[in-house]
Amino acid sequence: MTEDITVRLDRATAEDLYVTLYEVGEHIAAGAPITPQTIEEAERLGSLLRELGHSLGRRCSPYCKHLA
Ligand SMILES: [Zn+2]
Repeated sequence: MTEDITVRLDRATAEDLYVTLYEVGEHIAAGAPITPQTIEEAERLGSLLRELGHSLGRRCSPYCKHLA
């Protein structure tokens, strides 16, 4: 039972996601440092995380009322 999830990203969010996944991978593999996020990056990734979580049926916070 596979249910696909489609996510459409603007370029800035896609760049943020790429850098984050790359840096976290390098951090796990070799202890490389993770660059601190700017406020804008954190906001874009926070929005993506919330949207993706909702697509997966997860609540974005204990108080989430976005899910029906
Ligand atoms: Zn929510």
